[in-house]
Amino acid sequence: MKPIDMIKDQMRIRCFNGVLTERLVQSPAAFGLGRLPVSVKPDATVNSVCGFCATGCSLKVHLAEGSAVNLSTNTGYPVNLGMACPKGWEALAPLSASDRGTEPLLRQADGSMSKVSWHDAMEAFSGQFKSIQATHGKASVAFLSTGQIVTEEMAFLGSLAKFGMGVVHGDGNTRQCMATAVTAYKQSFGYDAPPYTYQDFEESDVLIFVGANPCIAHPIMWQRVMRNQRNPEIIVVDPRKTETAMAATRHLPIQPKSDLAFFYGLASRLIELDLIDRDYIDASTNDYDAFVEFLKDYPLELAAEKSGIAYEELDQLARLIGSGKRVSFWWTMGVNQSYEGTRLAQSMINLALMTGNIGKPGTGANSITGQCNAMGSRLFSNTTSLLGGRSFTSLEDRATVANILDIPLENIPDQPSYAYNEIIDAIDRGEIKGLWLIATNTAHSWINQKRFRAIREKLDFLVVQDMYYSTESAEIADLYLPAAGWGEKDGVFINSERRFGITRKVRKAPGQALSDFNIFRLIAHYWGCADLFEKWDSPEAAFRLLIQLSKDLPCDITGIDGYADLEARGGIQWPLPTESRAQPYIAQRRLFEDGKFYHVDQRAKFIFEAPRPMPEPVNADYPFILLTGRGTSSQWHTQTRTSKSDVLRKLYPKNPYVEMHPADAERLGIVPNELIRVSSRRGAVEVAAVILASVQPGQLFMPMHYAVTNHLTADAFDPYSKQPSYKACAVQIERTHF
Ligand code: SF4
Repeated sequence: MKPIDMIKDQMRIRCFNGVLTERLVQSPAAFGLGRLPVSVKPDATVNSVCGFCATGCSLKVHLAEGSAVNLSTNTGYPVNLGMACPKGWEALAPLSASDRGTEPLLRQADGSMSKVSWHDAMEAFSGQFKSIQATHGKASVAFLSTGQIVTEEMAFLGSLAKFGMGVVHGDGNTRQCMATAVTAYKQSFGYDAPPYTYQDFEESDVLIFVGANPCIAHPIMWQRVMRNQRNPEIIVVDPRKTETAMAATRHLPIQPKSDLAFFYGLASRLIELDLIDRDYIDASTNDYDAFVEFLKDYPLELAAEKSGIAYEELDQLARLIGSGKRVSFWWTMGVNQSYEGTRLAQSMINLALMTGNIGKPGTGANSITGQCNAMGSRLFSNTTSLLGGRSFTSLEDRATVANILDIPLENIPDQPSYAYNEIIDAIDRGEIKGLWLIATNTAHSWINQKRFRAIREKLDFLVVQDMYYSTESAEIADLYLPAAGWGEKDGVFINSERRFGITRKVRKAPGQALSDFNIFRLIAHYWGCADLFEKWDSPEAAFRLLIQLSKDLPCDITGIDGYADLEARGGIQWPLPTESRAQPYIAQRRLFEDGKFYHVDQRAKFIFEAPRPMPEPVNADYPFILLTGRGTSSQWHTQTRTSKSDVLRKLYPKNPYVEMHPADAERLGIVPNELIRVSSRRGAVEVAAVILASVQPGQLFMPMHYAVTNHLTADAFDPYSKQPSYKACAVQIERTHF
């Protein structure tokens, strides 16, 4: 029997609350099985935004007989201008991996996983989670999602879980990468609003990259920097001599976590030198005078002492920032993944505000986003913010959403979710008993794995929904749901510069795997709440709901007319309200050109706070600081996809390794490639020593892509964003093979 007929048959036999849904019987293909890509001609070439990082490059996917066979790059797209990194070129390879999930798997009494029908999987999902909720309360089931699925799916998941299933707590893995930038922007600007456009890479005179390594983490953005014709100063502030630091005009190798004092010192010096934009400060900001007062305790001398960078060099940098040139600040995880990341991001926002470097070409305090749709998650995942960046605590906001989605107002919670770490803690306390992971690999990526593995044992039921049955998380699941991946479904991503871009279904998912969108529809039916989600009958219908939900918000996109419009215009940056349709479309737009922000009084805020000590400083037992980060441009996060490409695998080291300074290696008698033990207070791992002056003496670096790394990391968090501080913990090393 063909899969399509199997499902049809099962759906005939089974019903939801005894009532067979007519549409399911008539059109099981509506759930995605057996359907060829209907949005494209069989031998067409289709433009589709890449599904790895938030650069949002457009790829041309070439089809033969209705299925993708190859791809090239899109020269006409304003993001990548015909370029792609290795991951983009290899984007089709992970779809054909042998460990793709083709059928749901359910753990049996003997501990094995057995293939089951979608019907049985859905019965288990609904039965187990409803039973947990009946026993322990609605809040006892939670979900953790991703920045990798399309926006329509994120919004559907958040709506289904919270408005349909009564789930109280849900968060996404974007907590691990972008929560700090979100919080910093919300507090400083009044809304989560990265202000820049990629053209700013090319139009800046001074680019300051902080805790960012775009050469390998965002290679196409780096190519945009290389197109800059203004002979720019490129300054890298990073403890490591990264690929970007080596390519920069200046590298400032600050001591780990001296960064807040470093930027306060620069601000202090700018004031001393009177290199500030007083007109801009007066017209567009609040709390500057309090900031000036605060900075009296943070002179440049202190910044030099803490950071290890010479006073003269810092003075030169302050003068460069205040020189009136176009200055832009760019940051990623070296800032966001810090126990004081929010204030650190705001220390750069403060510099941009006090020098008027915002809202103009080549300027800005600009967070570079990680995952392909972290921005979609930030706006529409319906977790800590209500859809569109609204507030769960606002009755007006809840009423607006209820009205647009046509759901009862009382179904919308009046409190935001727990954050990711709070969900983990709630499992530990026994408050959450059921967990649903969607396209995220917590059993690899979450900080302090030893604790997470122990906490997992406290769950009564763990569901993992993923492309692969082999991820570390899927292997410890009670129920595995096989999901379609990038290229096997339609939807939109939002990239780092706020651009909505469309990604297309160009292949069938294998076996009985379904798109996440269709899994959510199936769950809605089995849960008995499908009537609340009748409007969500296709990704494009969902996108049109998102357009309505954006109305009158800073991210207003009511001027976008569906997928065809996104295709025709090469992606569209928010905002694009209805009235802007009457004006010529401008492909590169930045925010705050009028000096008006999103707080009620339209002013940005200076926000600052005294630096705090590192949560885990080095001592005699743990004398090294371990830094973590991205390894190569051919690796992506937990490698569930990039490990499936023969080409990509050749471009990165197979086994985990640690970079250490030659002086430390010589002192300890460690030779290149020797296996050494790296231990923290949480675990010990054995990795190969790579002896390299990329790190400073007393510091080590391990890439995040290898599962062993998070056996060492410490669970410390930024108090405002709740983002984990992956970047610095204390470790020791030992020779074990000599
Ligand atoms: Fe894809 Fe990012 Fe590479 Fe562009 S830079 S091809 S979006 S992974």
